[in-house]
Amino acid sequence: MSNATSAPTNAAALPEGWEMVVGLEVHVELDTATKLFSGSPNRFGDDPNTHIDPVTLGLPGALPVLNRKAVELAIRLGLALNCTVQSCTFHRKNYFYPDLPKAYQISQYDQPLNVDGFLMLPGDVRIGVERAHLEEDTGKSTHFGGSSGRIHGSDYSLVDFNRAGVPLVEIVSRPDIRTSDQARQYVNELRSILVAIGASDAKMEEGSMRVDVNVSVRRPGEPFGTRCEIKNVNSVRAVGRAIDYEARRQIQEIESGGTIRQETRHWDDAEGRTHTLRAKEDADDYRYFLEPDLVLLDPDREWVESIRTSLPVLPAARRAALAALVGIDKESEAAYVLVERGQDDYVAEVVRAGGEAGRAVVYVQQAFAEEGAKPRVPAADISALTVLERDGKVTATQAKTILAEIVLNGGGDAATIAKDKGFEALDTSAVESMVDAAIAAQPDAWAKYCNGEEKAMGALVGAVMKTSQGKADGKVVTAILQARRSK
Ligand code: ADP
Ligand code: MG
Repeated sequence: MSNATSAPTNAAALPEGWEMVVGLEVHVELDTATKLFSGSPNRFGDDPNTHIDPVTLGLPGALPVLNRKAVELAIRLGLALNCTVQSCTFHRKNYFYPDLPKAYQISQYDQPLNVDGFLMLPGDVRIGVERAHLEEDTGKSTHFGGSSGRIHGSDYSLVDFNRAGVPLVEIVSRPDIRTSDQARQYVNELRSILVAIGASDAKMEEGSMRVDVNVSVRRPGEPFGTRCEIKNVNSVRAVGRAIDYEARRQIQEIESGGTIRQETRHWDDAEGRTHTLRAKEDADDYRYFLEPDLVLLDPDREWVESIRTSLPVLPAARRAALAALVGIDKESEAAYVLVERGQDDYVAEVVRAGGEAGRAVVYVQQAFAEEGAKPRVPAADISALTVLERDGKVTATQAKTILAEIVLNGGGDAATIAKDKGFEALDTSAVESMVDAAIAAQPDAWAKYCNGEEKAMGALVGAVMKTSQGKADGKVVTAILQARRSK
């Protein structure tokens, strides 16, 4: 990552008069116990070639048996993405590669399981989902020698078939994405949904979620341009960088009189640029034909409806509910972070225990970044602290100290900790007399402040802080000063 910042790929606007058109193809490994068509374990990180069997290796006579759990998870995803779930078929997609032992991948072609869905992004942006179909993963090749870990220039390669046959869903968006920000939002939202419905851990760094990016450019109003597909985009950040780079490359090419060839390109994250990999394959190249060893998959309507009923509340709805409860914007960072961590319920508990909503959000967001959905601290303890600070019994800084102590001990009574630390209440009249003393001691600063020089307030606030040994609440001091001035 060291030289990743040197590439000119920040999300600055495209040259005047140009627009990018982006569609994403996302592959996700489903969280099943076994593979899509065999009983071998679906597990990441074990010794190579330990989760294999005749079906995985494509040995003669081995027959695929469809994994019901994989179908269920794929349907869950389809429903969560507002798709129509339909009866569907499996096809063989033929190509030759060492990590594909059968020399074909069982996938879905013209009759996929899930079609015609959508996913909502901030600002009510709706991105169409063309299809979300089931298929099997390939094995994994690792290339040794050479420099980049790529096959070109390597001395030899090893292949691990543990991943071969792991169930995947490929989610194909419509070309509705118009900025790299939207592309990143789409990937993040999809990941949150996948985790929420228990379909996948969706970890880009472990390869259980992989994103291919299709980019073209046009002048707004023109028909879509020729697209390039970019592979090897291994993080959400790289998705944004690759798109920005590629759109600009295409614009430059067209503006200097060239044309865009449809091709597959490779994203080099260290260099911050894309390279030609190969001319794009057509569907014809894959010689798709119906998989003769599997029958039509026609999910029972009642089953589909029971899956629909079992879906949890999805992240977008949780953000909206949290936002409504605590009075923040449903698209604010706090709403995203808390729901992402699953701590929205905890915040609600703090509020139900009588806590002040705004501070509850801030405290939980700050204090429990390392914890899961259910922080160890009783919600009532956080609630009590919010009230203590709201009522001016402790300052914001003191509250932070108390919060840290509560978190460290897995709980604690805020008032007792405040007392132990000597954070006893400074009542408003005490602060008021300190303010008056500060004004009397610094008449120049006071005069400037009264003349509208806001900066002059700093000296007065500072004096009160000093007298109170930091126990006065800065916000209260400021409020008193403002009140005195406007008299
Ligand atoms: P293929 O079957 O060749 O992969 P698809 O029509 O299924 O092609 O599209 C693949 C992806 O490319 C989809 O995510 C789609 O949204 C996107 N896409 C299609 N046309 C364009 C375009 N002109 N510009 C950018 N993306 C596009
Ligand atoms: Mg495709």
